[in-house]
Amino acid sequence: MRVRSKESIQKDRIRRRKEYDKGQAILRRYKILKGCSKCGYNSNALALEFNHINPAEKKFLIAQKCHNLVRSNGTKTKREIKEEIFKCEVVCCNCHSILTYEKKHYAVERKSRS
Ligand SMILES: [Zn+2]
Repeated sequence: MRVRSKESIQKDRIRRRKEYDKGQAILRRYKILKGCSKCGYNSNALALEFNHINPAEKKFLIAQKCHNLVRSNGTKTKREIKEEIFKCEVVCCNCHSILTYEKKHYAVERKSRS
């Protein structure tokens, strides 16, 4: 195993944190731009979420990999997260809760995992 200095590990941590923050900022801008596809709400990105239109196609949570948005265009990781975003619609928290209940996403996800 490669021995790394504390400074190097710390630097890495800061770099990842910065990438994550940048990714989050990109996601926030995208959500505001799109607005809720059901009611049109677009005042605050914190109340807007990604909803997988077909839950069976869900590969990962977009927020968890948002740091990949800072990668250059054409890289595999960037392509993957863009593909994931395009599988989703933006909805506000209220509409998301109602949608999730109505479509019973929970049941679909449980089935696909087992
Ligand atoms: Zn809404």
